[in-house]
Amino acid sequence: MELARLTERVLWVRGPANVGVILLDNSKVALIDSGCDQQFAKKLFELLSDYRFKVSHILNTHAHADHIGGNSFFQEKCGCKIMASTLEAPTIRQPLIQCAVLFSGAPIGDLMNRFIMANPSQVEVVTANEIKLDELRIEILDLPGHSVNQKGFLVDGVAFLADTLFPDNFFSKQRLPFNYDPNSHTQTLERLRKIEANCFIGGHFQPQNSIGSLIASNLSHLNESLDFMRGLLKTPMPQDRVVKAFLDHYGLKKTNWEYYLYRTMVNGYLSSLHKHGEIKYRVLDNLPVWYAA
Ligand SMILES: [Zn+2]
Repeated sequence: MELARLTERVLWVRGPANVGVILLDNSKVALIDSGCDQQFAKKLFELLSDYRFKVSHILNTHAHADHIGGNSFFQEKCGCKIMASTLEAPTIRQPLIQCAVLFSGAPIGDLMNRFIMANPSQVEVVTANEIKLDELRIEILDLPGHSVNQKGFLVDGVAFLADTLFPDNFFSKQRLPFNYDPNSHTQTLERLRKIEANCFIGGHFQPQNSIGSLIASNLSHLNESLDFMRGLLKTPMPQDRVVKAFLDHYGLKKTNWEYYLYRTMVNGYLSSLHKHGEIKYRVLDNLPVWYAA
């Protein structure tokens, strides 16, 4: 694990989900997300301690376990203040919500695993579009789509873009980035073009000076998925078959709890097209059937 410098005030640590480190006054630091789990957080804590840095704040981009996995560790160790957006904060406080959302009911035990459910932590809701920590201005970027109320942070010319953009190898067979609401995600991707920064970094992509081509490729993958769904529903199809067709299309073979993760994503594609009046559903003989409008 290494602490790499991006600017005078901004550093980052590579991980399964990258972590930003913002230098504040008197050796205090604010983290952007806290790492994928307690083990990662412990190593990060030791690394920061080598530099005599003390975590005073964690700014969470969204409530997925791989981004908030270190929250409880740092909160217990450093008593740091954790901040998140209105609709992400409840899940950070009560990670069971994430499992219940995926299962659409009291979740099965399999779903309550460390990839989905982090330890709970106390979190303060931030509604403003900027915060100041020790006079350092941090702009908060609205990035919904991948998660319901995802936020990014722009500080000292570095834009932390959370899980908005994924590198090309993420879109391979057997792998597809999660998307809660493709409709808002499309708008977020368009908005990313207007962000002025010297450096961009994501939860799952390394720092780079420009993101134009990454935005284009992510938009193209998203549109391909929406087009696939449009084509599929020219023939009416029960909802469970839509999920299967989507998974088959991407060569995804889900044999356990991950199925419910992807089912939630497919439902997001349905609701995005439904919102635009492109598709409809009817419950026939107790089966929801979807079709082109
Ligand atoms: Zn995520």
